This record gives sequence, C-alpha cells and structure tokens, in this order.
Amino acid sequence: MSKKVKTVLGEIEINKLGITDAHNHLWISKQALEVAAAPVLDQRDKIVNDLVAYRQLGGGSQVDCQPGGAGRDGNHLRFISKASGVHVIACTGFHLKSYYPVGYKIWKMDIDQAVKYFLDEIQEGLEETRLDKPIFPGFIKIAVGETLRDSPQDLMEAAFIASKESGLLIEMHTEKGANVEDFLTFFEYLGLENNRLVICHIDKRPDSGLHIELAKAGYLLEYDTFFRPKYQPDVNLWPLLSKMVNAGLSKSIAVATDLADSTMWNSMGKGPGLVGFIEIIKNKMDSDFNDQVIVDQLMGGNISNRLAVD
Ligand SMILES: [Zn+2]
Repeated sequence: MSKKVKTVLGEIEINKLGITDAHNHLWISKQALEVAAAPVLDQRDKIVNDLVAYRQLGGGSQVDCQPGGAGRDGNHLRFISKASGVHVIACTGFHLKSYYPVGYKIWKMDIDQAVKYFLDEIQEGLEETRLDKPIFPGFIKIAVGETLRDSPQDLMEAAFIASKESGLLIEMHTEKGANVEDFLTFFEYLGLENNRLVICHIDKRPDSGLHIELAKAGYLLEYDTFFRPKYQPDVNLWPLLSKMVNAGLSKSIAVATDLADSTMWNSMGKGPGLVGFIEIIKNKMDSDFNDQVIVDQLMGGNISNRLAVD
C-alpha cells in the first residue's frame, strides 16, 4: 500500500506532492498580541496570486507551519489551496508563546490535556474547521527556545506522544539551532525515532560537522536562509549545502523559504515571493549540482517522504 500525506483538501499519494516548500506560512490571522511585530498574512486574493504563480512555474505543494491559536485558519488554507491548485499541508502543535493572545489555553495545559488537544485535532480535524468539513493536519509543528530550560517541556512531551500515536512528523522550530543537541537528547530519551523529527532553521548555525552528524543520525535538516541577507547565504548556506550534497547526504535536507513576512512576497511586497523557491533556489541548484535526482530530493522529495504515513 502506498503512503499518503494529509493535505487541507484530503489525503493524497506522496508522488502527487511535487515541488514542495518544506516550511512556509500562507495564512496568519491578525490577533491581539503583546508582540506588535508578529507577522500577519490575511490578504487572501494576493496570497492566491502568489500561489498561482508558484503552480505555473511547476510548484506542487506548500507546508504551512502556523499552528492553531497562533493565527492559523484552516478554512482560509482550504480556500487558497482550491483557488490556486497548490496542495497545502496544515499542522497542529504549538509555536513560540509570543505569537499567541494573552492567556491562550494551550499554555495552561498539562501533558495529558495537550496530548488530547493534539490528538483531537489529528483525529477530528483542526478546531476551526470542525463545524463545516474537517481539515486534518499533516504534521505537528513545535517551537523550542534557546535552551531546554526556556522551552515548554510538557508541550514537547505531548507532541512526542501525539506523534507516536499518529505517526505524524514533527517539525521543530529552533532558535537558530541553539542548543539543538539538548533538544535531540530530550526527544531521544522519550523514544522518538530520529526520522520523525525535522530540525528547522538549522542553517542559521552552519557548522558542517554538526550537520553531517545530524544527517547521519537520521534527522531531516530544514534550510531556509536563502533570502535572508543577514545570514549571508552565499558565504554560509550555499557552501554548506554543497558540502552536504558532496558528502552524499542530500536525502537529509529539505529546503524552504519561510516567508512569514508579507514584504517578502511578490503580491504583497517586493520580495522573491513563493516563486523564488523555484526561480532562484531551484535554478541555482540545477546549475550547481546538475543532478535531477538530488535537486528533486531537496526540493520536495525528502519532506514528502517524511510527511507520508500509512
Ligand atoms: Zn516559520
């Protein structure tokens, strides 16, 4: 039996996902937050325009990393997926506390309550979609702080239990890869299989020795500073990516754009937009690596395989 991925429009075979941005944000509702700078993505027609352009260049899917309570709206995700023809994979889980309205329920939950919350979303659908036609999450997003001590360990443990029960992949936001070793030890101790964890934003810590070690241990490494000049991608990310490919580890990396900031879109700003994933990143990989198999792995094959469940 072939493996499937849960999209906002239902389950599809993994080979239908195509080119897939492994970590992005397609919708973030405006909320009353303590942090005024939290991103908002709510101009639906413009979002659709960027998605249509992405599909026209060969884009297949987008992984949406905004969990419930932090501005996710599954109903809008369904609308923009239908309108654009791009597959969208939504998530349950939790983000950094600063992205939630004050007093949001998840921050008061103990482990059992959080497990129930995640599993209810996985089994009954995203909370905001249950009245109409439920949408099911395709993975679990979590966010850790700079240190284990600064991180919500109960929610992390609950995410592990929900992943174990459902088989769903965990995408873990890291603070530029800080103390990632401690978080991996935490999950290893609980019994999470390494191939169930994606380590996000790890290219902000471009230590190739560490990356080789993590890749060999079975983790999927997510790179997304291509369009962030302050991280000097030409000096850090691109050479790191070449090193990993040359070390035969192209199966352990997924590339992404993480365009939570609307100014980085085509339709809402002057950025590379969703098409930058193909026009800029894929084109450079095509010429740098000149290997269709490797480029396909990095551009979607690897994340698709990890998202797939029986
Ligand atoms: Zn993100």
